[in-house]
Amino acid sequence: MGSVKIEKLTKKFGDVTALHDINLDIREGEFFALLGPSGCGKTTTMRCIAGFESPTTGAIYIGDREMKGISANRRNCGMVFQSYALFPHMDVFDNVAYSLNIKQLNSSNFFAKLPIYTRLLSKRLGKTPKNIENKVMEMLRYVELEQYSDRLTSELSGGQQQRVALARALVMEPAVLLMDEPLSNLDQKLRHSMRNTIRSIQQDLGITTIFVTHDQEEAMSMADRIAVMDHGKVVQVGTPTDLYSNPATPFIADFVGTSNILKASVEGEENSLTVVKGDGFVLRSANKTDKTEVDVIIRPEHVKVVDAGKAVNGADTNVIQGKVLMSTYLGSIVRYDVQVGSYQLIVDTTYSSGTGIFEEGRKVKLTVEHERVLLI
Ligand code: ATP
Repeated sequence: MGSVKIEKLTKKFGDVTALHDINLDIREGEFFALLGPSGCGKTTTMRCIAGFESPTTGAIYIGDREMKGISANRRNCGMVFQSYALFPHMDVFDNVAYSLNIKQLNSSNFFAKLPIYTRLLSKRLGKTPKNIENKVMEMLRYVELEQYSDRLTSELSGGQQQRVALARALVMEPAVLLMDEPLSNLDQKLRHSMRNTIRSIQQDLGITTIFVTHDQEEAMSMADRIAVMDHGKVVQVGTPTDLYSNPATPFIADFVGTSNILKASVEGEENSLTVVKGDGFVLRSANKTDKTEVDVIIRPEHVKVVDAGKAVNGADTNVIQGKVLMSTYLGSIVRYDVQVGSYQLIVDTTYSSGTGIFEEGRKVKLTVEHERVLLI
C-alpha cells in the first residue's frame, strides 16, 4: 500500500518553524511533486516522510499505517538524492546489490550469510546468491545499465550515476519512492532525458513517487499533481493544468509558468463581465470577484500583438495600447516586452516566416480574450 497521508504536520527546529500545519493526500501510484522556492520546506517534508526527522506535531501515514515511532529503515521508502550518495569504491552491481545483501544478512542464518560475507570482503572469493543477482540485473536492465555492472560508479557520467541511484532505490521494491532534487546536478540536455526515463519507469512500475524540485518546468512535465509550497505552507495542490489555468495566488501564478501580474481596481460589471482598471489599461474579465482591488493575471501566450492602426472590435475582446520595448526572436515564437502604463508586459506570439516582427518603439495594440483575464 503506497498511499501517503500527511495530517497537520508541523516541524520546528528551535525557533524556526520549517513546516506549518501541512496536509497532503498522495494517492497510490501517483507521481507527486513538492514544488517551491529554496527554504520553503520541501526537503523537511520529505525527511519527515522518510523518518529522518520527527514531526513536532501531526501525523504521517504510509498506506493505513501511522509512522510514529517507526524508524527510517522500516518505512519501506526508497530514496534518491541530488548527490546520488553512491559508494565510489564499489562497482555498479555492488552498489545496487548492497541493500539487498544487508537485508539478507539481517534475515538469514549463518550458512545463507556466508556468500554475502565473502562477496562483501572480496568479489573474487564469493558469489552473490542467485536471487539477489537476478534482481540486481533485472533492475540494471530497467535503467539500461546492464553492460556497466562491473564499472566503478566513479567512472560513470552524472546521468549514469543517477540511474544507478534509481536502480538501488527501486531494487528494494519500496512502497514509496522519495526523490529530492535528483536532477539538479545534471546538465540541461541530460535533465530532459532523465525526466523521461524516471517518468516512464515510474509509470511502468506504478510506484508512488514523491519528487522534490524548485524547477516548475520539471514538476509540470513529470507530475500527476503538484503541491506548491511557500514559507513552510502548502499553498495549492492541483494538476499541472489546474495550477497553470487557475493559480490561487499571484505567488503561484508567478512561480508556475510566466505571468503578467497587474494591480487593478474593480469598476463594476457590464454584460456579465467584470470591468477592472489599472495604470494604462481597462480590461473586461469573465471571472467574478467580490473584491474591490485585484491582481490581474495574463499569460504571455494569451496576448496578441497587432499594429496600432489596425481596427479591432473591442466588444469581442480586450484591447489595450502599448509600445514595443524589445522583441526577441526565439525560433518558433517571438517574445515582446511591451510598455503598458508603468508595466512591462511579456507577450509571446507564434512566429511564421510571412509575418514581420514589430520593431522597438512601435506603437501596438494588445488584444486578450475576456476568458483569459484572471482576477485573483
Ligand atoms: P532547498 O530547496 O533550498 O533545499 P527546502 O524547500 O527543501 O529548500 P528545507 O530544507 O526543508 O527547505 O528548509 C525549510 C526551513 O527549515 C529553512 O528555513 C531551513 O533553514 C530550516 N531548516 C531545515 N533543516 C534545519 C535544521 N536541521 N536546523 C535548523 N533549521 C533547519
